[in-house]
Amino acid sequence: MRKVGIYYAFWTHEWDVDFIPFIRKVGKLGFDQLELNGGTIVTLGAGKQRELKAMADEEGLTLSYGIGLQKPFDVASLDESVRRKGLDFMQRMIDAVAIMGGGMIGGTIHGYWPASMPVGMDSKQPFWDQSVKSMRELAPYAAQREVLLNVEVLNRFEQFIVNDSHEAVAYMQQVDHPACRILLDTFHMNIEEDSFGDAIRRVGPYLAAFHLGETNRKMPGTGRIPWSEIKLALDDIGFDGPMVMEPFVMQGGQVGRDIGVWRELVKDPDLDSMAAVSAEFVRNNLM
Ligand code: MN
Repeated sequence: MRKVGIYYAFWTHEWDVDFIPFIRKVGKLGFDQLELNGGTIVTLGAGKQRELKAMADEEGLTLSYGIGLQKPFDVASLDESVRRKGLDFMQRMIDAVAIMGGGMIGGTIHGYWPASMPVGMDSKQPFWDQSVKSMRELAPYAAQREVLLNVEVLNRFEQFIVNDSHEAVAYMQQVDHPACRILLDTFHMNIEEDSFGDAIRRVGPYLAAFHLGETNRKMPGTGRIPWSEIKLALDDIGFDGPMVMEPFVMQGGQVGRDIGVWRELVKDPDLDSMAAVSAEFVRNNLM
């Protein structure tokens, strides 16, 4: 049974926040899963990590973790000392998630975000190779701790290493470890893929998690992403992972800045009811 989830930052202006209010409310809005910021989780002590996990259990909620590694932790860096820092940071995040019972870490875990290729370089091959090398080190470490690492396929304006489903499959074949899988996101797919359905079928068994968003990152069900084509493809590959919506509609703060919300996307948004309506849309159209 596919789970329906939401990313906490829908409600926040900053990435680093207290997660408790979101753990307490998203179940009541119709969600089975809540995605948190893995970078914040690392900074909490084991006591607090266990408290969040216990609270999620009380609410019947699965937790997952998203991260866009920052440049000082770039696991695809050609500078070995930076790459090692990135590996250390990822290992600490895997340790934290292990304390919380294991689960999925997804996002830019294979490079940094936002990133474009350094000036003067014409080929991404050296970064690709470093990235694969890092994931081959991290995947066994994650597997021993019941953590799954999901590499998110991102559009060209945010990352340069794995931009589409063809590259995702090639990357999976090179990493070749069951604890490293793929996360597709309809917002990024809309920019890079020739076909939503073909991309999902191509990634097939490597697809462990799916992010939902419209072309402008509004709530799923409010725009022109071809949800029925996507559902058919998810059914064809027997997808039973989480579908986590990742809408952003608020201007302001570091979240608004990083996402590029420069206009009023929704007038006087009632975020809780918008989330509930969209959860219902996903249940009716993608399950
Ligand atoms: Mn995403």
